[in-house]
Amino acid sequence: MTGLKHVEVLGGGPAGLYAAILLKRAWPGISVRLTEQNPADATFGFGVVFSDQALDFLRGEDPETHDLITPLMERWRNMTLAHRGDRVTLDGIGFAAIGRLELLQALQDRAGEVGVELRYDRPIGSLSELSADLIIGADGLNSLVRASDEAGFRSRLEYFDNRFAWFGTTQPFDTLTQTFVTTDKGSLNAHHYRYQPGMSTFIVECDPATFHAHGFDGMGEAETAIACAEIFHEPLQGAALICNRSLWRQFPRLWCENWVSGNRVILGDAAHTAHFSIGSGTRLAMEDAIALVRALQANADVGTALAAFQAARQPIARKIVDAANTSAAWYDRFPEKMALDPLDFAFDYVTRSGRVDMDRLRNLSPEFMARYDAAKGPAA
Ligand SMILES: Cc1cc2nc3c(=O)[nH]c(=O)nc-3n(C[C@H](O)[C@H](O)[C@H](O)COP(=O)(O)OP(=O)(O)OC[C@H]3O[C@@H](n4cnc5c(N)ncnc54)[C@H](O)[C@@H]3O)c2cc1C
Repeated sequence: MTGLKHVEVLGGGPAGLYAAILLKRAWPGISVRLTEQNPADATFGFGVVFSDQALDFLRGEDPETHDLITPLMERWRNMTLAHRGDRVTLDGIGFAAIGRLELLQALQDRAGEVGVELRYDRPIGSLSELSADLIIGADGLNSLVRASDEAGFRSRLEYFDNRFAWFGTTQPFDTLTQTFVTTDKGSLNAHHYRYQPGMSTFIVECDPATFHAHGFDGMGEAETAIACAEIFHEPLQGAALICNRSLWRQFPRLWCENWVSGNRVILGDAAHTAHFSIGSGTRLAMEDAIALVRALQANADVGTALAAFQAARQPIARKIVDAANTSAAWYDRFPEKMALDPLDFAFDYVTRSGRVDMDRLRNLSPEFMARYDAAKGPAA
């Protein structure tokens, strides 16, 4: 790569921080500046999960960052579905979790070490404030960089039907657990898992009819937390739900046909979103950064590199985004499935992608499939 002297990164989430780290690591002589609107010690939400191999994708490429982050993670091998008084273990469906703030702070430390200029508490209102050879829009769902050329990036943004609110709790859980409950006003689900020894994520979701029947549309954050803690009294064992901008939202389904406009490129949630149920948005954001820096290393000028990045990365991201959309669609329909008995319900969940190879599933989850086959007869 020739001619790269100054890079501006907008957004201090996983995509922006990791892109800045990799750029500065590849070219220590260039200046890389990252600007984030929030303070360095603030973020939305609580913990996030990574599916399967957690951060193994970093191990070979970037052992320093891998070794910095992995000790901060909680890991477990199985997942649990709690439904109609039964707890079904889905063995082999492992996840690893980390506090979103802890992840960002580890990446901030690493960015500082390699010499990235970090500016916090600094909202950028117009791209005219940034002048650089390359502008990286890692500014999330409401990306200013994307908005600067909406027609060029060809974005499509829709929303899933379910409403969700993201809480924390001090109640620890053994595995990533999904607790499905039926109330006289409809069905709700909670995704809950430990991300630190004394802290867990607790995401509550329900369909629009249940949302309105419970009157959540008229409740503030604190009142919602109390109401949800009552509904999920059993898994919480009486613990409270903690708020951090825990407002009801609908999960966005965003995809951009183009990720490049001139010397601007968008990464992570600015370019695509992946429903939280498959634990991939953060990893996708970091892998986008890896692919971008690889393309810059392999090509002589910024324009060719950005085109190569998009060509190489989009098909890979698309597959994961499609899997996330299919998973989200299952959650949008879960109330219809509440009458299933716990084993059928779990089987429906685990095969929700519609492309499940039974031999593979038997290898992945031998204990669950043995229980299912014994109760229902061998699934074909
Ligand atoms: C409820 C919920 C649960 C989730 N759970 C998981 C999970 O378990 N696992 C997982 O992998 N992913 C999860 N995700 C998705 C994950 O949070 C995102 O995919 C990931 O954060 C994307 O990283 P990013 O860096 O692209 O964007 P973000 O993390 O959104 O970062 C963008 C940053 O840009 C900043 N910014 C925006 N505009 C400006 C501006 N004009 N000036 C300055 N700064 C600006 C923002 O403040 C923000 O810090 C979840 C998301 C939600 C909503």
